[in-house]
Amino acid sequence: MSNKTIIFCDFDGTITVNDNIVAIMKHFQPPGWDQLVEQVLSKSISIREGVGKMFALLPTSRKQEVVDYAINNVVIRPGFKELLDYCKQQGIEFYVTSGGIDFFVYPVLSSFSIPTDHIYCNGSDFSGSHIEILWPHACDDQCHNDCGMCKTAIIRKYSPDEYHRILIGDSVTDFEGAKLVDTVFARSILIDLCRDLGLNYYAFQDFHDIIKQLEELKGK
Ligand SMILES: [Mg+2]
Ligand SMILES: [Zn+2]
Repeated sequence: MSNKTIIFCDFDGTITVNDNIVAIMKHFQPPGWDQLVEQVLSKSISIREGVGKMFALLPTSRKQEVVDYAINNVVIRPGFKELLDYCKQQGIEFYVTSGGIDFFVYPVLSSFSIPTDHIYCNGSDFSGSHIEILWPHACDDQCHNDCGMCKTAIIRKYSPDEYHRILIGDSVTDFEGAKLVDTVFARSILIDLCRDLGLNYYAFQDFHDIIKQLEELKGK
């Protein structure tokens, strides 16, 4: 790997063991949330539309409960801190590219040394009657997937001529980015996608696996 290495790492289901949006919905059970999840997974509505509509089901009067639940139920996947240390050591740039929401992404990551401008996620507004999700990193003119938080728009800022681009992820929000990068570290259904499309990927269970693989790639 002669180019500079850069990592784009998903949050929900990757840095954290569970998907926090699904966990919030399962806990608070606003009527209609499960159909929206189905529609996102079957791609009959976009991720942005689905996530926006799910949170719009939750009244802002329950803000503190929702925030507390989200933050307190997070489990970090083993080896995450070690991967961050490894990246620092090796001069690998590390970005969090999350389709999650600011009110749980930032607090959870605050105990790790990641600069705030290396964390991309969606925003939220609790000033109305129901939670409104904000999209400060929506798709650019080259992406037509209505991602919400557009991973490809961020990845495309880093030229493949200059960077060895690595994506770490697990699910639908990683599909488009996975097609773009040089190397994918995949778990869950992202593995199936990488296999079906013949992408250059490594399956992983935790971040220790990724450190090991990065060490091997270094020698090449
Ligand atoms: Mg995920
Ligand atoms: Zn997009």
